[in-house]
Amino acid sequence: MPERKKPIKLYMVLPCYNEEEVLQSSAETVLRLFDDLIKKAEIKKGSRILFVDDGSKDGTWEIISRLHEKDRRFCGIRLSKNKGHQIAIYAGMNYAVDRGCDCVVTIDADLQQDIEALPDFLQKFREGNDIVYGIRDSRNTDRFFKKTSATIYYKAMRLLGCNLVEQSADYRLLSARAVRSLSSYKESNLFIRGLVPEMGYQSDVVYFHVREREAGTSKYTLKKMLTLALDGITSFSITPIRWVILLGLIVFLISIVMMVMTLIDHMRNVTVPGWSTLTISIWFLGSVQLLSIGIIGEYVGRTYMEAKNRPRYFISDITGESDD
Ligand code: UDP
Ligand code: MG
Repeated sequence: MPERKKPIKLYMVLPCYNEEEVLQSSAETVLRLFDDLIKKAEIKKGSRILFVDDGSKDGTWEIISRLHEKDRRFCGIRLSKNKGHQIAIYAGMNYAVDRGCDCVVTIDADLQQDIEALPDFLQKFREGNDIVYGIRDSRNTDRFFKKTSATIYYKAMRLLGCNLVEQSADYRLLSARAVRSLSSYKESNLFIRGLVPEMGYQSDVVYFHVREREAGTSKYTLKKMLTLALDGITSFSITPIRWVILLGLIVFLISIVMMVMTLIDHMRNVTVPGWSTLTISIWFLGSVQLLSIGIIGEYVGRTYMEAKNRPRYFISDITGESDD
């Protein structure tokens, strides 16, 4: 793969959901780095810092509009409602590619991921990689719960047959070509972290440092985290359904053993009250069945959602349409 030429037309994509507290300072930090990179002729003047307002309910959009008024390198799109982090970055990346950029880098609006690693990403891109993953060098800033759950999750995903790049968050660079390929996956349950390695383009990694959030609180509620985890599992693996079959098989074997034991008892004329055996069996079988139906239902439900083929998002507002 030949080296790509400098300067690069870069779009930074920052998803924002109720981020009014950090947005201003994050914007300044990114712009400072941008200035520096433009001066060094690493990136083109036409590069942009794109905010994706994921249906915020606070003053986020007003801040984005004001930033755009002050400096045209800031621009923003606003989704018509809160669609979640994954859809927000997806929308931003596609918008950026439609505007003819060479590559996009996604980073959280709270800049917990170290923006100073950006030149490394660009370097790897120039070396010919279509995908550059940001890998966190430690999880020291995460609380114990998040740290442990994330580790278990990555292990579980691997077991289920989805090769995620471990400890990689959504801080990554994608070439325009990779973004176009990503959008050719038509599933509405979009699990970007799984799909990116799946595409198979040449990739590399960059290590970065994670910081504490400067202001505001985490917008990733437990519910959103669980949904993301479940989306990942169900969109990449039908192993849980196979487990149901295995479970059924095991329970079947146990029931045969029980049958034989009962028959022997019967023939030996041992009058067992039998109450406990019965009760345990009923509860056990009942729960196994409910669990199995639940797992299958989860897949059926998702098939239903996919069958509808609904649009993923709508953009309700755009700043800076005309300046390029
Ligand atoms: N985010 C979003 N939509 C959501 C939730 C979060 O666009 O529904 C954005 C949020 O504004 C931030 C990024 O996703 O830029 C990561 O969220 P956050 O920092 O709250 O998560 P954490 O760092 O705690 O995992
Ligand atoms: Mg954060």
